[in-house]
Amino acid sequence: MSNELKTIGVIGAGQMGIGISHVCSVAGYDVRLVDIAADALDKAKARIEKNLSRLVDRGRLEEAAMTEALNRISFDQEFGSLSDCNLVIEAATENEEVKKSVYDAVCPILPPDTILATNTSSISITRLAAQTDRPDRFMGIHFMNPAPLMELIELIRGIATAPEVFETVNNFVVKLGKTPVSAEDFPAFIVNRVVLPMINEAVYTLYEGVGTVDAIDTAMKLGAHHPMGPLELADFIGLDTCLSIMQVLHDGLADTKYRPCPLLVKYVEAGWLGQKTGRGFYDYSGDAPVPTR
Ligand code: NAD
Repeated sequence: MSNELKTIGVIGAGQMGIGISHVCSVAGYDVRLVDIAADALDKAKARIEKNLSRLVDRGRLEEAAMTEALNRISFDQEFGSLSDCNLVIEAATENEEVKKSVYDAVCPILPPDTILATNTSSISITRLAAQTDRPDRFMGIHFMNPAPLMELIELIRGIATAPEVFETVNNFVVKLGKTPVSAEDFPAFIVNRVVLPMINEAVYTLYEGVGTVDAIDTAMKLGAHHPMGPLELADFIGLDTCLSIMQVLHDGLADTKYRPCPLLVKYVEAGWLGQKTGRGFYDYSGDAPVPTR
C-alpha cells in the first residue's frame, strides 16, 4: 500500500463535512464531498467559499490558493464520485443506522485498498468497522468543531485496524497541520467523554431552575474561563448530536450518571437543534442570539 494519499472523500456535507473538506483542500488534497441532500451541498459550497474568502481577507491565504482550493473540491449527490479516493471520511448524521446504510452503499464502490474512516463523536469504531467489508482498513478520525480552527484530531483504532493504516492516517493528520492524539475505542473517546457530561449537567442546571441560560453560560465563561458557555456550546455542536453522544455514553458505560437530561430530549423532539435550525437554548433569528429561557 502506498502511504501517499491524494484524493479524499467526505460523506456528509453538514457542519463537520464542510470543515473537513475545507481543511483537506487547503492542505492540497483533492476532495470529493458527497451528501444525499442537494440543499446541503449548495449550502456547503457557499459556506466553504465564505470561510476561505475570510482567510484571504485576513491575509492568511493567497487569493490564488483560495481559487485552487475551491477547484479541488467536487460536490456530488452520488457515491460514485468516491471511486478514486484513497481515503474516505464519513461525517454523516450521528446515528448508527444512517452510518450503516452509508457503508452498505459506499463499500462496493471503493477500491479494496481505500481507507474508510468515520468522524463519529461517540459510536464504537469496532462495531462500525464490522458493518464494512474492510475492518482492517477502517478507523476513527475525529475532527473537532470547527475543523479549520481546532488543532486537535483524535485517532481511534478499532480492534481490527491494521498498524499501517493507523500510520498512514497519522501522517495525513500531521500534513493537515493538526495534532493527533490517540484514544482507545471507548464511548465518546476523550474530549467528548469529558465535555458532554458537563454540557448535560448544564442542561440539568437549567432544568432544575438553578440558573437561567444567561446565568449558566456567564458563570462558566467568567467563573471557569471557558471561551463559550456550555449551553452556547451545545447549540453550536447541535442538540441532536449532544443527545446522541449522551445516549452512547449511557448505553455503552451503563452508568446512570450519563442519563440525558429530559430537557435536552424535549428540545430535540421539538426540532430545536441549536444554531443549525435557528433555535436551541438561544434564538438565532435576530442579529444577536437571545436566550430562550
Ligand atoms: P450535520 O447534521 O450538520 O450533518 C450531517 C449531514 O449528513 C447532513 O448534511 C445530511 O444530509 C448528511 N447525511 C445524512 N444521511 C446521509 C447519507 N445516507 N449519505 C450522505 N449524507 C448523509 O452533522 P455534523 O455536526 O456535521 O456531524 C457529522 C458527524 O460528525 C457526526 O458523526 C458527528 O458526531 C460528528 N462530529 C460532530 C461534531 C459537532 O460539533 N457537530 C464534532 C465532531 C464530530
